Amino acid sequence: MSRKPIIAANWKMNVTPSEAVTYLDTFLSTFSQPVNVDIVIGASFVTLPKAAELIGPNPAVDLAAQNMSHEANGAFTGETSAAMLNDVGVDYVILGHSERRSLYGEDDAVINKKVHATLAAGMKPILCIGESLEEREGGQLESVLTSQLEGSLAGISADQMADIVIAYEPVWAIGTGVTASKEQAQETQAFVRSVLEKIFGSDVAGATRIQYGGSVKPGNAEELINQPDIDGFLVGGAALDPNSFAEIVGAGIGG
Ligand code: PEP
Repeated sequence: MSRKPIIAANWKMNVTPSEAVTYLDTFLSTFSQPVNVDIVIGASFVTLPKAAELIGPNPAVDLAAQNMSHEANGAFTGETSAAMLNDVGVDYVILGHSERRSLYGEDDAVINKKVHATLAAGMKPILCIGESLEEREGGQLESVLTSQLEGSLAGISADQMADIVIAYEPVWAIGTGVTASKEQAQETQAFVRSVLEKIFGSDVAGATRIQYGGSVKPGNAEELINQPDIDGFLVGGAALDPNSFAEIVGAGIGG
């Protein structure tokens, strides 16, 4: 089954609106025509409107938020709703990132509510899952990933899966410079697909795009994207430089 790769930048709490102008001037000039990879820029809430304005006419690049409230509106100080993101022109929402899970206490139950709210608003979740080093070394890799998938995707239909991207991000590889080997990433992503098959059946599992995330850089993107179950990347540090992110996208286009 052929799946169109999707390569997303996760800027995290970096890139001000003014800095986004400089970044996107460079990046968008490289990708001004549609390519055989979906390209996504994940910006902070305050940078989203400026990024949306700059990306607006570009046919190759979409916009992602990095989080969202599952509540529709009301007395939730500091939160941002699906309607707000929609209004700005957001296409994807990164949900359940390990930093949200570990630093802000998000669990699968709340992430599941966010997945439902994102889809209900017509946007596409990029659902992050991944194990810690302790869990991997303790033999819990498969049980952790299975329960993250089952919990975060509870109540999701097979049809809705067409709009969901999974990002497998081993926590020990995020921002550490340590990348999973291509064999480790492939083996784990094949396992993730097998869990999706058990939940949703083989058609859905075969069609779902599974990104790898964790210290992806220009030097390792090509060998990773060539693995059969790696359908793109979620990129943090190496996506802070537009030329380096463009090189990673280039590996996806060539792969
Ligand atoms: C991420 O934050 O999703 C990520 C993968 O970060 P990095 O590429 O810096 O490891």
